[in-house]
Amino acid sequence: MPITSIEELSKLIELSGSEKEWRESGSGSLPLLISDHIASMLHEPAIRRQFVPDALENMDDTGNLDPQEETGHEAAFRLVHRYHNRAAFLVTDRCFSYCRHCFRRRFTGSMTGPATDEEIQKAAEYINSHKEIKEVLLTGGDMFTLSDDRIAFLLKTMKESNPDVIFRLCTRAVAVYPERFTKKLFGIIREHQTGAPYYLMTQFNHPAELTEDAIGAVRGFLDLGIPAMNQTVLLKDVNDDAGILIELSNKLLYNRIKPYYLFQGDLVKGTQHLRVPIRKGLEIERRMRMELSGLGMPQYTIDLPQGGGKVILTENHLIGKKGREYIFTTPEGDTREYPDPIS
Ligand code: SF4
Repeated sequence: MPITSIEELSKLIELSGSEKEWRESGSGSLPLLISDHIASMLHEPAIRRQFVPDALENMDDTGNLDPQEETGHEAAFRLVHRYHNRAAFLVTDRCFSYCRHCFRRRFTGSMTGPATDEEIQKAAEYINSHKEIKEVLLTGGDMFTLSDDRIAFLLKTMKESNPDVIFRLCTRAVAVYPERFTKKLFGIIREHQTGAPYYLMTQFNHPAELTEDAIGAVRGFLDLGIPAMNQTVLLKDVNDDAGILIELSNKLLYNRIKPYYLFQGDLVKGTQHLRVPIRKGLEIERRMRMELSGLGMPQYTIDLPQGGGKVILTENHLIGKKGREYIFTTPEGDTREYPDPIS
């Protein structure tokens, strides 16, 4: 049985004062829910910090609950069309475990429930009538909290209306509830695997999350020919260490999961204690870049507040220009010049 209260949690692990005070310190914006799979890993500090709530969440008065201003870009209920060529459909608000760093706190765990038939059909029609949309994120919440029948309906409806659109299957469930990925579920995905490809988008934040079961769940998608990409959130006292992230990237690559993004924590109210200073993030990125191949290197990226969009964070190597010559610093700190062609 999943854990849903501080009382149940305190029977499993010894809680700190601040963790015990979470419920009394305010209503918070995200419920407590921890799957059996994650509960069995709470002895790992990096796992505990991501899932055990803390009173610090309720003392944070920075940011807001919708830093990406998704509500201002809702084309229909649950359908966010913020970027010209892609959209996100919030299939449900439910997850198998709630991550304390969740950037969609305005919606996640809000008891909105799964999308109705009508909402799915309306979203599919909107996507069909906006040919500029090339990719759609099926997200939430976690789409795999839906029953097999609902997933079948979702994929069938979306695919029939939009055979040329790439759908990203966004899920943290492979990490937090890998037993969800049954043969029957993969059979449903295979049945609706027509037209443009699916991409699996995972969220692994620490090497300890890549358990055998989690890797097995991802393998089910890979075996269907669905590429897997990972998004990691940079989190204080979880993975704010180049060595940990290098190990994570290598382990992901070895298991055929491409490290895609390393996200700076969004400016979400309730998460300040989990955010990492950008200067530290840039230093981590620099060390990762020196030790990882291009294949293993995720893009360190910030989603700017007030819906400013994604910007890549990296050390600037282009430091000036002299006539035709562009002046660069090498990773080792030397200088090189590169001339423009003579026109
Ligand atoms: S699984 Fe995703 S949507 Fe759910 S709580 Fe974690 S980060 Fe938020």
